[in-house]
Amino acid sequence: MMSIPAFAKLQRDIRACTICAENLPLGPRPIFQISRTARILIAGQAPGSKVHASGIPFDDASGDRLRDWLGLTRETFFDANCVAILPMGFCYPGTGKSGDLPPRPECAVAWREKILSELAAVKLTLVVGQYAMAWHLGPRNNIWLKKNPWFARDVATGIAEADQIGYPIKKVLQRVRLSVLIASNLKCRIIGRNKTTS
Ligand code: SF4
Repeated sequence: MMSIPAFAKLQRDIRACTICAENLPLGPRPIFQISRTARILIAGQAPGSKVHASGIPFDDASGDRLRDWLGLTRETFFDANCVAILPMGFCYPGTGKSGDLPPRPECAVAWREKILSELAAVKLTLVVGQYAMAWHLGPRNNIWLKKNPWFARDVATGIAEADQIGYPIKKVLQRVRLSVLIASNLKCRIIGRNKTTS
């Protein structure tokens, strides 16, 4: 793990990043939220134009839905000490014929491992969208499932346990298409926090 000044420098370096600037129609504006104390990681896709304008991750209708489904207040959701938000591409990638373009691939290559290795407190990751799933979970065929028993163990167990105590994970999974919750021991704490903050 890097020193605190090095971690701060890493964030400054990312905010000053121009690696794929020539492919960004509105120019670089990296948008993410991290801290070493965050217990929840939301791994998303890339900012849309509205988020690019505001500079605040998930500050749009999809963010409102996500907060609603997760039962998190805006205050908790935007508290970097609690929740890290790390899209696959930090800058708005532009729009194509069928909506926003995919996250710029250079971004994860340049920054993702460096950041994730610093987020040691994360106990639960919410993976939103196919690009985040591909990065965090890889191809999930039978061979992969055999090599990664944690997926069946932690995800299935987490969903079942959360369901038993009333956390709407199944509802979240039904509504957030192509998404999955990687559950762990933190799930009970999240539920506790929801009750006190919502
Ligand atoms: S999308 Fe990522 S790699 Fe590209 S300029 Fe923004 S921060 Fe840098």
